[in-house]
Amino acid sequence: MTHHDDAGTGPRFATHAIHTGQQVDQVYGAVVPPLHLSTTFAPDGIGNLRNGYDYGRAGNPTRTALQAQLAALEGGKHAFSFGSGLAAEDAVVRGLMRPGQRIVMGNDAYGGTFRLFEKVHAAWGVTNTPVDLSDHDRIAAELQHEDATMLWVETPSNPLMSITDIAALADIAGANGALLVVDNTFASPYLQTPLALGADVVVHSTTKYIGGHSDVVGGAVVLGFGDSADDLAEKVAFQQFAVGAVSGPLDAYLTTRGLKTLGVRMDRHCSNAQTVAEHFQDHPAVERVLYPGLSSHPEHELAKQQMSGFGGMVSIQLAGGEPAARKVAEATRWFILAESLGGVESLMNYPHEMTHASVRGTELAVPENLLRLSVGIEDVEDLITDLEEALGGL
Ligand SMILES: *Cc1c(COP(=O)(O)O)cnc(C)c1O
Repeated sequence: MTHHDDAGTGPRFATHAIHTGQQVDQVYGAVVPPLHLSTTFAPDGIGNLRNGYDYGRAGNPTRTALQAQLAALEGGKHAFSFGSGLAAEDAVVRGLMRPGQRIVMGNDAYGGTFRLFEKVHAAWGVTNTPVDLSDHDRIAAELQHEDATMLWVETPSNPLMSITDIAALADIAGANGALLVVDNTFASPYLQTPLALGADVVVHSTTKYIGGHSDVVGGAVVLGFGDSADDLAEKVAFQQFAVGAVSGPLDAYLTTRGLKTLGVRMDRHCSNAQTVAEHFQDHPAVERVLYPGLSSHPEHELAKQQMSGFGGMVSIQLAGGEPAARKVAEATRWFILAESLGGVESLMNYPHEMTHASVRGTELAVPENLLRLSVGIEDVEDLITDLEEALGGL
């Protein structure tokens, strides 16, 4: 699998992942930089900060290391790490929007994102309009309204796995003076770098593939190069500092540790997911498999252009409807029934009642026969046997 960075002149992806932000410690020579838990940093006399650190909310060397690593991997200049993906999203909305403005967003966005916009931000005067992201005319028409200053895209989307053309929407957003934000959680920077395709802002739930081991909740905002990116970065930095939804040092440390192996994990996630998707697409109990790596996926060609791999998320719609989905969700052994995704272990989710319960009855509701699989990095033969047995019990 080739990667976007591999043609460039700087370090390639995995080298950045392992070395950027990870200088050998100057005092003891520790190859892994120490975890800095201190909440406060003594200046060298009044006003003489050592390396710019004074207080843990404002800055912490372990967090700085993660931020440098994140910026490098997304091909950006600025990165900010937060206590959760939603905290990162909140900093983007509060920092870059004002009451009276409106977010145009994909109508199959992550349920928690929609809940944040609808139940929190709307009350403070920032509203939202969900749209079908493949309807470019509709998006252009919405963005022509002066109040629509942000376009929010998630691709691949959760849990319908639809693919949105980032470069095309960057052009439409740019032509209408709106910012394009891409939630890059599902692809991770290893498979897709939205800034290179023209996005203004990238957000992540680092809880997922970036952390990669289901043991740390976190989020990130990444911005690119140039004056306007510097300006946006200043506003996001101010939110991070003034609101304080920062990642703690231990969280930042664990996230950095996970991020070092992102490339090798993603390669395995991709190959396991492709095998699972292909194996079950013609199964009699399965109505449809949603995976961008299948040639039957409506945006397969676009995914091939935009991504360097198709990711580890597979959704399956069952012929037996809701009862079949509920039964299979509770019948697997290696696929653990739990929310979240992107960890080394395989997870099974019934979005209608789990991750996406908050959007039931809205335009963002998820089909009742749909199971979302986060295909882990176990031996794929075991994963297939597990699903075969669960489907065989219907
Ligand atoms: C999980 C997730 C979020 C929210 O992140 P948290 O870390 O749970 O706050 C946002 N977007 C996507 C696509 C997600 O999967």
